[in-house]
Amino acid sequence: MIIVFLGPPGSGKGTYSKRTAELTSLPHISTGDIFREAIHNNTALGKQVQEYLSRGELVPNEITIEILRERISHPDCAKGFILDGYPRTLPQAEALDNLVHVDLVVNLVAHEEVLIAKLSARRICGQCGEIYNLADVHKMIDGLKYDMPSMPPQKDSICDKCGGELVHRKDDQVDVITHRLQISNRQTKPILYFYRSKGIVEDINVNLGLEKTGPSIMRTIKNHI
Ligand code: ADP
Repeated sequence: MIIVFLGPPGSGKGTYSKRTAELTSLPHISTGDIFREAIHNNTALGKQVQEYLSRGELVPNEITIEILRERISHPDCAKGFILDGYPRTLPQAEALDNLVHVDLVVNLVAHEEVLIAKLSARRICGQCGEIYNLADVHKMIDGLKYDMPSMPPQKDSICDKCGGELVHRKDDQVDVITHRLQISNRQTKPILYFYRSKGIVEDINVNLGLEKTGPSIMRTIKNHI
C-alpha cells in the first residue's frame, strides 16, 4: 500500500502521516527529514541541499527524485510506504508514478483561518524538530464548529522527547504565514489535479480535531485495501 499525504502547512500532515505509519506498520518517508538528517550528519547530500533548506526553497527535482528512488528501494518499503512532503512538484509526482503505483492520496483540508491560528502558535524543538502547538482552537466559522486542540509540551518551552529548547520559527510568524499558505496552495494544485484525474484522492477534513480525523483517515485506508 503506497499512500501520499498532501496538505497545507498547519494541517497536521506530519502528525497524521506518522500516526498512520505506526498504525499500518509501513515506513514513514519524509524528504524534509532525509534532507535535515543529511545536513546534520554533514554528508555530501547535506552539503548539496543546505542552501536550499536555509532559504526555504525547494531542492531541485533531480536531487529529490534520486533521493526518493534510493529510499524506496530499501527492503522495508517492499510492502509499501507513506510519503510526507513528497511530491512537491508535478515532475516529482510523475517520477514517482514511473516507479510505483500510488494507491491513495490523503488530502488534508482545513479552513484558512484555523490554519493561521494553529501555525502562529506552533513551536518546534531546535534540537530534534519535534512539533508542538500551543493554540487550542475551538470556534464557529460560517455555522461550522472547528475543534483543533493544542499539543503543548509537558514542561514550558522544553521538548518532551529530547529536552531541547522550543523555538518559534521565523516562518511561523503571522505575516509570513499567509504567504506560505498561498505558495503551498499554488504548488499543490497541479499535483492534486494529477492525482484527481486518477481517482485516488480522498479529502479529509482536519478541522474536527485529532480524535475524529485520525479514525477518519484509517477508515479511508481500510476502504482502499
Ligand atoms: P516544511 O513544511 O517546513 O517545508 P519539510 O520538512 O517538508 O518542511 O521540508 C523542509 C525543506 O526540505 C523544504 O523547505 C525544502 O527545502 C526541502 N524539501 C522537502 N521535501 C521536498 C521536496 N519533495 N521537493 C523539494 N524540496 C523538498
